[in-house]
Parts: sequence; structure tokens; C-alpha cells
Amino acid sequence: MKIFRFRDVVPEIPRLLFRRSLRFRFELLPQEARNLSGRKIMNFFVAGLNQFFKPARPFGHPVVAQVEPSNYCNLACPLCVTTSQSNARPRALLSLETFKSFIDEVGDYLLIIVLWNWGEPFLNPDLCRMIAYAKKKGIVVHCSTNGNVPMDDAKADELVASGLDSLVFGIDGATEKTYRQYRKGGDLSRVIGNMEKIIQARKRQGVTTPRLVLRFVVMSHNEHEIELARALAKRIGVDYFSLKNVDLPSSCGEDLDSKYVPVANKYRRYEYGEKAGDRKRQPFVCPRPWKRITLDALGHIIFCEMDYQNLHPFGCMNEGESAMSAWKGDTAASFRREFHDGHNRFAPCVTCTYKNSTTDGCIIDCERMRPPRGA
Ligand code: SF4
Repeated sequence: MKIFRFRDVVPEIPRLLFRRSLRFRFELLPQEARNLSGRKIMNFFVAGLNQFFKPARPFGHPVVAQVEPSNYCNLACPLCVTTSQSNARPRALLSLETFKSFIDEVGDYLLIIVLWNWGEPFLNPDLCRMIAYAKKKGIVVHCSTNGNVPMDDAKADELVASGLDSLVFGIDGATEKTYRQYRKGGDLSRVIGNMEKIIQARKRQGVTTPRLVLRFVVMSHNEHEIELARALAKRIGVDYFSLKNVDLPSSCGEDLDSKYVPVANKYRRYEYGEKAGDRKRQPFVCPRPWKRITLDALGHIIFCEMDYQNLHPFGCMNEGESAMSAWKGDTAASFRREFHDGHNRFAPCVTCTYKNSTTDGCIIDCERMRPPRGA
């Protein structure tokens, strides 16, 4: 189920109440939050009311957190705002101290942490310590990487021992030539080697997590390699193979559509009008500022990952403010009041690419590559 989609939540309620477990999908990947405390269950229902009534100051606590371990990257992919907006924010790694304070405050209520934003998470040397700290609170931790940070067996062991639930590897090409065309500065053979090291570490420790996802963002230059990439996923032995449609942020230049959008309609995120690049608008009411809390690498609480220039921070933990006082404070409340109908004057929202999306989320498919445990 999708968190908070009514028709998905209802069938899960008995299991939630009697087995204290919640099954849901994040980016189509199945997840399960287990051994939930009464406090977490109660907050889940309260958070559902927030989605419905949309108060300026939400009741309870957020249930989803997005956290940015690093705001810079080791690659230079053309469509990433980390590349195009490299001077928008000072380069930073989230401090372990700030992360712990954040978890101490909201961890008793969170179901899932999405452990990336802009930048490469594995550049933060404290990443595994952050994961282990969050896991002590029973939170599902989901991370993503370009897979190019060197990893030895000891590092793979540390990652597996941290308790990370799932890890996405972004690989947009099945051959070195196609891969490097977009993942500028990347090395496909190193990424494959890192995935294999994690799989070996799982075997050494006798565990099945983190479940690995090979994610392929479909673009015009690589759509011919989808089947090769699926075969590669099988050969490596990852758990899931996922296809994602390409996002085209306005800050990365003009006429990106004709350059990057794949030919096959089923892989596209947008529908077009008569003119090239004329994306059709779709009905869209954004729920983000009510269901998520987002912490950036500089310690800011922001309304959404798309505020990558820190245009409207709600507050800053590195300046002594608490996460919840920022999330429920005056700045956040006035933001939500104006935001209410999904059309507002805030800069990242005006050009938000989710508004044009014809798909239910950005993931086209997430295919299981290995049989479920016990099958
Ligand atoms: S930028 Fe888009 S996803 Fe983010 S809060 Fe605004 S409308 Fe929602």
C-alpha cells in the first residue's frame, strides 16, 4: 500500500492493530515496519487526519522523514541539481550529532527514513552510524547511492551490520559506454563490484538485508539497454530491478524534453501538447508538507526535497532549534496556509515537475528478481 492512500490503508488496519506491523510500498518497493509501539500506531492515524484536514500546524508528529547525509556528489550527472546548482548552498555533510538529535525528537513516531536528498549519501563517513542509530528506534531505513564511493569488505560488513533495510543503486546503462554518457565521472564496473561486496557481506552475516535494487532511469540514450540491464541485475543477484521515468528540473536548462525523454510513451513521465516540450498540466494537490519532515545537510528543516536552494527553511537545527518547533512553527504554519490548494507562489512549487506527471509516482516498475524468503 501507499502510506495514507485510503484504499490501501484500510485492508492493513487489522494487521496493524493485532500484529503491530504495517506493510506499505515506497517507490513500489515493499516495506514492512514491525513491532510498532502504541505511540507509533496512534501517530499514524493522527497523521492520516492531517492529510485530510490539512491544518497549518499538524497534529502529532511526521511519519516519514527525508534526510540528506551529504549535499554534494562525486559525479556530475547533467540533470541533477547537485550539478547545476552547485553554488546554491555551501557544501556540507550532515553531522552525526544533528542526526541523533533529530532521531531523538521524532524517531519514536517515524515509520520510514528516506536517507538521501541531493548529493551522494555514502560520502558521509558517519552514514552507517546514522543508520544503526535510526534502526534502534525501529524505523525502516531506505537509502540510495550512485555506487561509486570505493567500498572494501570491511565497509560492506559495516553497512550490512547497520541494519539498513533497502538500498537503491542508480545505474542508467548496462554497458560502460552508455552508463558514462550520463553518469559523468562514474565507473560501472566499480558499482557492480560494490553491489557484489554487499551481497557477499550479507552471506557472511547470514542476513537478507539490505535488499538491493538496481534502478534504471529510462532516457533517450539508454532505453535500448533496458533488457541488458535486467539481465545484469539477475547476474549480480540483486533483489529488485526497477525502472524510473526521468525528471526534468527547470533549473537544468531549456528544452530538456527533446534531449532526454525516451521514445516509448510507457517510459515517459509527461504527456505533451502540440509543441515540443509543451507538457500537459495534470490535477495535482501536494500532500508533502503534512506528511514528511525533511532535514538537509546544513541542519535546516525544509518543506520538501525540492527546496534545494533553502529558499523557505522552517528552521535550523544547527542553530539550536528543535526539529518539531520548526515543523510546527510560525514560518511553517504560514507556508501551509498559502500552500493549501496545491497552487502557491513558492518558488520550487511553481516549477515543480510533479505537477505535470501523468504517472502515479516516478517509478514505472519494480520487479522482484529473487524468490521471496522461504519460497
Ligand atoms: S515542490 Fe512540488 S513536491 Fe515539493 S512541496 Fe512543492 S508542490 Fe509539493
